[in-house]
Amino acid sequence: MTTLLQASDLTRKYGDSIAVDAVSFELEEHTATALIGPNGAGKTTTLSMLAGLVSPSQGAIRFSDNEKKDIRSIIGFLPQYPKFFPWLSALEFTEMAARLSGVDTRQAIRDAKNTLEFVGLGDAMNKKTGTFSGGMKQRLGLAQAIVHKPKLLLLDEPVSALDPVGRRQVMDLLKELQQETTILYSTHILNDAEEMTDQLLFLRQGKLVEQGSLNEVRARYAEPRIIIEFESLQELQRFTKATEWKVTSKGLIASIDVQTEGVDISSILSVLCTGLFMVRKVERQTASLEEIFMKVAVI
Ligand code: ATP
Repeated sequence: MTTLLQASDLTRKYGDSIAVDAVSFELEEHTATALIGPNGAGKTTTLSMLAGLVSPSQGAIRFSDNEKKDIRSIIGFLPQYPKFFPWLSALEFTEMAARLSGVDTRQAIRDAKNTLEFVGLGDAMNKKTGTFSGGMKQRLGLAQAIVHKPKLLLLDEPVSALDPVGRRQVMDLLKELQQETTILYSTHILNDAEEMTDQLLFLRQGKLVEQGSLNEVRARYAEPRIIIEFESLQELQRFTKATEWKVTSKGLIASIDVQTEGVDISSILSVLCTGLFMVRKVERQTASLEEIFMKVAVI
């Protein structure tokens, strides 16, 4: 793996408040990193610093081998609320974005057309952006961010404004893009983070409170447990009385913590069989990303 970018001690202050507080991480080439955190955690500020839109109060951002190039040619940025000139067509806007990123005029027209086809706006490329729906604008935002083939693609909540179909389509596009570029994106949608991520960065009140691959983070917060769904409350109570394990229950469902109680599913099954308990379901569960998020990112 080759490191594309190193952010060290990245900090942004606004007056007395600290939006991003000494955050350090690395991005490896051709990986996708999800920046996760509740509202106000500092995701947009972090992305804006990397995009060169906000200057850090402290800390450094180092690109591995592009120090001397214009940052706009290396980075593509999709803001949370992209804005367009309503009187320009999608093609004119995308071509302008390419040229502003250093692509020459002829190449810019070709690249703009190809990119608009890629994001699914081929048929709408000559329409004025003022007539575009929210989903079309999001695709156009993606087009202007990728038209110059950036090494690093920064996306601020790229799918949060989309309906489920649009979200699916854009997620598929992003997965395709990951073959060619490095992606850092913020999201509240944990299923998306689960689907496309090599690294998770959890921010809380400006601080990086957890980081690692999905598997690493899962392993740290897995809390494996065995869940038993009983046929009736009486059956659940009979089971609770019959065992020495600590059982927590909700409705007809009993839950036993695998680690603290030192149990495995076979020992539980043998107790269930011995007592002829009427059960609907027995399964091993681990914390979902949603539960991990609540623990890590929310106080
Ligand atoms: P959201 O999920 O709601 O978009 P976020 O994680 O992207 O939130 P930021 O927008 O980075 O969070 O904001 C982090 C903190 O910095 C917030 O407390 C916000 O109010 C503050 N902040 C951001 N921009 C400015 C600014 N220009 N002036 C003052 N405070 C700011």
